[in-house]
Amino acid sequence: MSHTRTGDGTKPCRDTVGGGASFRRTTGRPAPKENDQTPAPLPSVAELQLLFAALNARYFGGSLGAYGISFNPRLTAVAGRIAYRRRSIELSAPLLRVHPEHVTETLLHEMIHAWLHENRLPAGHGRHFKEVMRAVGLTSIYHSVPVTERRSRRRYVLTCPHCKTKLVYRRRPGRPISCARCSPGGFDPRVAFHIRRVA
Ligand SMILES: [Zn+2]
Ligand SMILES: [Zn+2]
Repeated sequence: MSHTRTGDGTKPCRDTVGGGASFRRTTGRPAPKENDQTPAPLPSVAELQLLFAALNARYFGGSLGAYGISFNPRLTAVAGRIAYRRRSIELSAPLLRVHPEHVTETLLHEMIHAWLHENRLPAGHGRHFKEVMRAVGLTSIYHSVPVTERRSRRRYVLTCPHCKTKLVYRRRPGRPISCARCSPGGFDPRVAFHIRRVA
């Protein structure tokens, strides 16, 4: 399990690697057009707070302290994330606009993290998380918001400044790495790869 934690305690969740969502089509209604870009309305901040309160009452006995909840228009790597110290839950506007039916489960998922954190339990996606998850009726850690196609287009091109060797990574390396051809003995900052994000 690898949870990246930033200084302010923001914990991105990997709530997005989807099993394929199955979309039921109601007969009698026209199927959505392939390239229908009409944005579905997302809940307002007030509606999110009401939803939070309802889920809090239903699943956590109202025990969760307040969190600020917002839609982040630039969050695309995950459907939701939580920052314990700032007491903030952010939901991905771009992903949930396409799949508004996942707003509730994404929020509930983040609330499980909050509950574990407040009860001083390991708040990652471990045993405790799964226990609570089952108790509240979520079936998968990974929501079915299908962002895999989005993710797969992102690439990082690493170029050695010396020999111009190029490597392509799907994730940004967590630490500087240098060219193994030019520095087989270990890390050498003089031949550290230049990293460029593409797509
Ligand atoms: Zn999570
Ligand atoms: Zn090199």
